[in-house]
Amino acid sequence: MRFTRLKLNGFKSFVDPTDLVIAEGLTGVVGPNGCGKSNLLEALRWVMGENRPSAMRGGGMEDVIFAGAATRPARNFAEVSLQIDNSERLAPAEFNDSDILDVVRRITRDAGSAYKIGGKDVRARDVQMLFADASTGAHSPALVRQGQISELINAKPRNRRRILEEAAGISGLYQRRHEAELK
Ligand code: ATP
Ligand code: MG
Repeated sequence: MRFTRLKLNGFKSFVDPTDLVIAEGLTGVVGPNGCGKSNLLEALRWVMGENRPSAMRGGGMEDVIFAGAATRPARNFAEVSLQIDNSERLAPAEFNDSDILDVVRRITRDAGSAYKIGGKDVRARDVQMLFADASTGAHSPALVRQGQISELINAKPRNRRRILEEAAGISGLYQRRHEAELK
């Protein structure tokens, strides 16, 4: 599942609509301290359904909304849209009618997050499952945070297993089994 485009609007320091084309192969993000490199990775994690404020370097989920600057007022919402190349038809059947799939997450102050896949309203879980099955989920080791390597080395065996299961692409199955057992 290849990411082809990332659009941000009001997300953290990206207050103005930003549209980044992700070319095939290796992409490097380069710039001075504080220019927003880490914010871009957080946008990727967030649109894939990340719901832990700590993973977004914030105190609460609304901290991803542009908080204002000396010359600009704060925004009321943040939106991130991730375009996926779905030509291999890896998405669930209901979304599999197109070569290009847009996953959109939007958070509005006091109203929480809303998600769309291919223009259809979906739940956070649908987005998380889409990426869990493609083993590139919000917690996936494919996105390596600063300090995560030492976390992996120092992790208890149980936690290390969870990371390896995610890499193997089977965590979506566990989640479904857990939900089935609750029913
Ligand atoms: P470094 O090279 O130091 O790692 P970086 O390029 O990774 O820097 P980021 O950490 O992505 O930079 O960006 C930090 C900037 O984003 C800071 O200037 C911070 O004020 C700004 N920022 C973070 N959250 C928000 C927000 N909600 N509203 C406005 N600006 C924000
Ligand atoms: Mg950084």
